[in-house]
Amino acid sequence: MLLNMKNLLKTAYENQFAVGSYNVANSEFVRVVIKAAEEKKAPAIIQIHPNEIELLGDEFTAYVREVCQRTSIPIAIHLDHGASVQDVMRAIRNGFTSVMIDASHASFEDNIAITKEVVQLAHAVDVSVEAELGTIGSNDNSSEGGADEILYTDPQDAKTFVEETGVDTLAVAIGTSHGQYKHAGKPELKLELLKEIYQQVAIPLVLHGGSDNKDEEISQTYLHGVSKINLSTDMKNAFFQEMRNFLTSNQGAYEPDVIMPGARSAAKEVVKKKMDLFNSTNHANLYYK
Ligand SMILES: [Zn+2]
Repeated sequence: MLLNMKNLLKTAYENQFAVGSYNVANSEFVRVVIKAAEEKKAPAIIQIHPNEIELLGDEFTAYVREVCQRTSIPIAIHLDHGASVQDVMRAIRNGFTSVMIDASHASFEDNIAITKEVVQLAHAVDVSVEAELGTIGSNDNSSEGGADEILYTDPQDAKTFVEETGVDTLAVAIGTSHGQYKHAGKPELKLELLKEIYQQVAIPLVLHGGSDNKDEEISQTYLHGVSKINLSTDMKNAFFQEMRNFLTSNQGAYEPDVIMPGARSAAKEVVKKKMDLFNSTNHANLYYK
């Protein structure tokens, strides 16, 4: 069941849970997310980053759409960190139901201008739009980018930004980073800042870099307007760590149906735990009306 993200997140926002948004970079991860969502009866978002689209090719989206239409679980297909109007148009043509335009590194005025343009283009074809205000940190090997220093989202700016652009969801910088944390710099979420933004802004908020934050912090965020939490690193790590172990102790292995199942199930366990943590488990039924 394929939805756009505005409709998917409206229910989450009203019922105080967050939908996990999982970066898929091949069909294995698509299977992982769909199977976890079906087993947990949890809505989910499949997101693909422009780097991942380069790896996969445009035709991959056709496969993802087919998978989403065959499951009864509510799913959106979302472009992660679109960098330009061109990225967004390519995604819309390929059948994404939601796009992100990330102009967070531009000036406030330019971020408003480009986001507004994308909102007009996307809404004309019923595709929802996420934008970002403030900058999310970056760590080690993450290909998602990010800034060396986090620039926290200002609540008043967020209010102005949402009013001016008409955007559907807003990614906020409250202390998360892309990638995996080194222990020394482990960030803490600024929940007081999140509460202020929640009071000023009446649309669902998005948390990027949802791997490796403290569970007790994450479980506070969806009580204060966060309806989408991006998850990439934890899931990919589980998958490749399991595969690495398997291949190390089975040097002669070459059949995918021998190598993949263990990696898949390791990644699926991570996703299922996140679905519990985000309180999205057993909430798919809210969409069947
Ligand atoms: Zn991100």
